Amino acid sequence: MELELTAAQLAELDADLAQLKARLTALLTDTELQAKPVKLKDNASRLSRMDEMHNQSILRANRNLTSNRLTLIDRAKDRLDQRTYGRCSSCDETITFLRLKAYPEASKCLTCQSDNEHG
Ligand SMILES: [Zn+2]
Repeated sequence: MELELTAAQLAELDADLAQLKARLTALLTDTELQAKPVKLKDNASRLSRMDEMHNQSILRANRNLTSNRLTLIDRAKDRLDQRTYGRCSSCDETITFLRLKAYPEASKCLTCQSDNEHG
C-alpha cells in the first residue's frame, strides 16, 4: 500500500502537468507546417520526395502520440480538480509519486498498467 500524495507533491505534479502541456502544445504548433501534405516540387528527385514522405509519416505518427498525450494531460487536470488525481482508476491504490513524476498523466498504477499491456 502506497502512501497518499502530500499537498506539496500534488502541487509539484500540477506544475509538471502545466509545463508538459505547454511543451507538447508548442511542439504541435512547431511541426504543424511540416505535417501539411508534401508539395511535389518539379525539381525534386523521386528519391528525395520519397524521403520527405517517409519523414512526414514519422512526423505525423509522433504528432498523433503527442496529441493523445495532451488529451491524457487534460484528463489528469480534471482529476486534480476533482481530487481523484494520483489514484489508480482500476484498483484505487495510490500511484507512486515516482511514477507520476515520470508520467504525470498516468491514470493507473504500474501493476494495472502492465496487466493491461500484457492482455
Ligand atoms: Zn492499479
